[in-house]
Amino acid sequence: MDKKVLYTIIIVIILIIAGVAAYYAFTPPAKEEKVLVVGTASGFPPFEYVDPNTHQVVGFDIDLITMIAHKIGYDKVEIKDMEFDSLIPALQAGTIDVAIAGMTITPAREKVVDFSKPYWHADQAVVVRKDSNLVVNSPEDLHGLKIGVQTGTTGESYVTEKVGKDNATIKSYPSYVEAVQALVNGQIDVIVVDTPVAQNFVHKYDVKIIHTFETGETYGIAVKKGNTKLLNEINSALDEIMNSPEWNQLVNKYFGSSS
Ligand code: GLN
Repeated sequence: MDKKVLYTIIIVIILIIAGVAAYYAFTPPAKEEKVLVVGTASGFPPFEYVDPNTHQVVGFDIDLITMIAHKIGYDKVEIKDMEFDSLIPALQAGTIDVAIAGMTITPAREKVVDFSKPYWHADQAVVVRKDSNLVVNSPEDLHGLKIGVQTGTTGESYVTEKVGKDNATIKSYPSYVEAVQALVNGQIDVIVVDTPVAQNFVHKYDVKIIHTFETGETYGIAVKKGNTKLLNEINSALDEIMNSPEWNQLVNKYFGSSS
């Protein structure tokens, strides 16, 4: 082969290699997005529910955790919707970073996960169909009835402990939305559910609240036990948000008034 041709080929090859090397050296690698993986259990409006138009999980908790995530340096949140009683196992397995689902801070749960400071409070409401004549002033007044609750909730524990499986038919549903639908359809007599969600149901279904058991619960955001770094970040972001006008805007968006 002609030497000239050979040199030309070699030079071209060197230039190509140099070009490719320069491209990789000077092109910054695509920045990896920081994603906070959030577990929730839709079916607990207005905290988390499926938007009938977009089919997305939305709600107070979703907005709140998105605001927190942005404040602590995450680019976005990924929502994993699951049944309420799968949330704590998912935290423990590390398949989600946080759980936010109107979750009451209880001593039993505090043994297995860590909670943020409280961001909401609730009691347990007794909800019946609008045309019902039932009168309930104490757990004993629920004897003999068909009571609907959601699996794994404080409502379920309250009814199991205070009314008892021997005194009533306690039906546990995968979500409170399914429980209220069963109530409206006449399959059960009452549901026992957190007060803010009961109030939401009163606006959407032909149901009314006839009594409130004052359980004095507070909601927290849960992280895997020992994930102190994330928990501290969540707590300071939560403090900041709750002390800013953002909080009232958020409350107004989902509850129509600040409380
Ligand atoms: N606050 C109740 C609990 O923690 C219900 C929560 C829910 O159904 N999402 O058990």
